[in-house]
Amino acid sequence: MKALPPYKRFSQLVGILRKVPGVGERGALRMALHFAALSPSDGRKLAKLLLDVVDNLKRCEECGNLSFEDRCWVCLDGGRDRGIIMLVESVMDLLLMEDAGFKGLYHVVGGLVPEAKRISPSQRKQSLERLVKRIEATGVREVVIAFPFTLKGESLTKFFAEALKEKVLVTRLSRGIPVGGEIEFMDTLTLNASFERRHPV
Ligand SMILES: [Zn+2]
Repeated sequence: MKALPPYKRFSQLVGILRKVPGVGERGALRMALHFAALSPSDGRKLAKLLLDVVDNLKRCEECGNLSFEDRCWVCLDGGRDRGIIMLVESVMDLLLMEDAGFKGLYHVVGGLVPEAKRISPSQRKQSLERLVKRIEATGVREVVIAFPFTLKGESLTKFFAEALKEKVLVTRLSRGIPVGGEIEFMDTLTLNASFERRHPV
């Protein structure tokens, strides 16, 4: 990139920021300049926090959520309904479901953020084995599938639903019209799915 100053450490910083999905060359350059413009105390704090996260953040042994301990805050929370486990693709999705007020437990199948690439067959097989152990050990009564309604999500749903339906009640988040959604702007797949899942009023 022509706009970079001729300092290797600066261009290395830009190069690493460029690895963040969705950040282009200019975005990475802008971010590096913003970091350079931080006050020395904020800049050091950022570097220290990043180092701490990189070195110490791990995945919860129970559910795969992010955690600085062996178990995450969700698994340690005594006020949860432990009979229901929500299957999510990523930690990002878990956090969004938390925000939406879900009060059961989770099982994270993929990584920290949703990825465009598919979850590998060995990864989903391992994830299923861990989940089955949890179900057998703790008497879970329901698994709610909250995978996205994409090709990747459909294939994950099929895989987990088929393997689990003999052991436990398997449900899935319903597809439908979003709050505030106008019928005229809905695609036909969404309209069709929301019709199929209609309920008495
Ligand atoms: Zn956990």
